[in-house]
Amino acid sequence: MTTRRTAIRAALVQQLQTDRLLGVRQSPLTLTKPVLDYLDCGRASEQGFELLPASAVVSGDGVSVFAAVADGEKGAALSALDEKHVVSCSKCLLCKSRNNTVFGAGNPNARLVFVGEAPGFEEDRKGVPFVGRAGELLTKMIEAMGLTREDVFICNVLKCRPPNNRDPAAEEIAACSPYLLEQLSIIHPEVIVALGSPASRTLLNTSTTIGRLRGRFHDYGPPGTPMAQNPIPLMPTYHPAYLLRSPGEKGKTWSDLKLVMARLGL
Ligand code: SF4
Repeated sequence: MTTRRTAIRAALVQQLQTDRLLGVRQSPLTLTKPVLDYLDCGRASEQGFELLPASAVVSGDGVSVFAAVADGEKGAALSALDEKHVVSCSKCLLCKSRNNTVFGAGNPNARLVFVGEAPGFEEDRKGVPFVGRAGELLTKMIEAMGLTREDVFICNVLKCRPPNNRDPAAEEIAACSPYLLEQLSIIHPEVIVALGSPASRTLLNTSTTIGRLRGRFHDYGPPGTPMAQNPIPLMPTYHPAYLLRSPGEKGKTWSDLKLVMARLGL
């Protein structure tokens, strides 16, 4: 642990020094208190670090840092992320073919977040996640859990539609997944459900198949986020679009969702 902490601290200091040499940063690197505590910096200011106010959310300058957001501020934090960054994003080529970005929708204080892979035709047209046939099935699944779409938050790894609904490319996931990380950091739900293989593999940083991942909870706690010290249980399950093609798998998905319901006391 100490070696890893030392390596991370050294990498951050080196990045700071490089940025200063290149003239792209003169200010200290702002870090959250949990990150500063983890790095065990001693006198942080001597290393070029400063403490981030507890309610702030910052991403940028090559290093993203996140802090816990109070319940009453989550809606505003999500809106700011959407309006200031996602709506105008051109970090990957999908910006050229999209009609609308699809940030996500639902309750900013949700106890449960569903994450799919990318918007489809209807979602791209309306700017709302899961509104096509797969979305109708997801709505039924949520209602079968005793919830409504307004109770939960629904989003995707990618915020723009890949042409012809092809699978997301690795570079698109790399470009877009920081937005998802920030959304999950802000909402900080009690449980995450990853719908389908791309979402599950991205969130869990694994190449294991969805068939082997589903059926049990995994820890989701990326370093440098409020979730690192208190990981969120993540349940991978099949994507509703897959269930429309393979209705025989619905029973497995329902058994996954029953585990989620039990975890949430529903
Ligand atoms: S998919 Fe994500 S990274 Fe790519 S342009 Fe859209 S919002 Fe930006």
